[in-house]
Amino acid sequence: MAVPKKKISKSRRNMRRSHLALTVVNSVDCPVCGESKLPHHVCNYCGMYNDKQILTDKSPDA
Ligand SMILES: [Zn+2]
Repeated sequence: MAVPKKKISKSRRNMRRSHLALTVVNSVDCPVCGESKLPHHVCNYCGMYNDKQILTDKSPDA
């Protein structure tokens, strides 16, 4: 809710922002090419998942 800036004390402002911190994204190393990728996701670099080639050069967004 919008409130004039000076009505909010530094303490209240900082308490509100205590939940805004970013969290670290979990990642694993691709077993094929070694690049970091999200777990249970196709690797963006080599297109492999579970020892299968999922993405090829011909795919539209590759
Ligand atoms: Zn890979």
